[in-house]
Amino acid sequence: MKNNNMPSCAMIELTNACNLKCLTCSNKDMRRKKEFITDNIFNRALDECKKAQIKRLVLFTVGESFLHKNALIYIQIAKEKGFSVSISTNAMLLDEVSLNKLFKTEIDGIQMSFSGYNKESYEKIYIGGDFGRAIKNLRLIAELCKENGTNVRINGISLNEEHKEKTLQFLENIGFNPLVLKIRTPCNFGGKINLNKEIDNGINSLIIDRKNYVMQTCNILTNRIGIFANGDVTACGCLDVDGEMIIGNILKSGIKQIREGKRYNSILNCFRKGDLSDLKMCSKCDFPYKKKASS
Ligand code: SF4
Ligand code: SF4
Repeated sequence: MKNNNMPSCAMIELTNACNLKCLTCSNKDMRRKKEFITDNIFNRALDECKKAQIKRLVLFTVGESFLHKNALIYIQIAKEKGFSVSISTNAMLLDEVSLNKLFKTEIDGIQMSFSGYNKESYEKIYIGGDFGRAIKNLRLIAELCKENGTNVRINGISLNEEHKEKTLQFLENIGFNPLVLKIRTPCNFGGKINLNKEIDNGINSLIIDRKNYVMQTCNILTNRIGIFANGDVTACGCLDVDGEMIIGNILKSGIKQIREGKRYNSILNCFRKGDLSDLKMCSKCDFPYKKKASS
């Protein structure tokens, strides 16, 4: 049974380096040193997750995991240790051979970053990406997921309604179930990404006008934990590009101790009090806001 104070999922960073410079991602402005996890830290992370009874791992935080030469080996090790494992990728470094190897690990879930419906609309967002390769891999991933019963999700950003509709149609034509297509207004990375004039829906639209939204305790904060390639633990595994929410390091303390520690609890208390003014990222982040039922 899950311990209620513990996260249910750990995001383990194989690397924070990325081969792309996507329009709406703050990876390209990262101040954190680019690192690759070592065998020692990876194995320690798995041990600590076991001790904390965390069963779900996402081998990704804010980089391209397949830049790590041991990515497939790490997926295999995590699977052999009984974890449910998923990964997120832009798929630029994958081909038929590596995708077949990936599915042989019996990975549980694959998320691919993609949006667009032709070369121009894709490459405008995924800067440095190659539309031809993305399409080839999308088709292979769709087929392999069906064959293997693997969960798949396509995460992409919507520049505007027309862009979103065309992307959805394009992906459905490739063979994806509409339910796995998450094409959304991009998140603002805890206030790090500014509104781009090309994005009609406005990354900051929520920030500017929150009157129709209600703030809740962030479920990324409560349900997840991020373990960086150097062993640092962040309270926000999804958006903490610069390591501003570090609450400990697995080489010094266990996950339970870290989650029961002062730093994590002071962040949690800010949410409980409804006052995020002391939290630089969370105070500017869209994630904890949910639309009011009546609006
Ligand atoms: S969205 Fe993903 S692929 Fe694009 S720059 Fe960010 S981490 Fe890299
Ligand atoms: S509110 Fe945003 S920055 Fe804060 S923990 Fe949640 S996702 Fe991360």
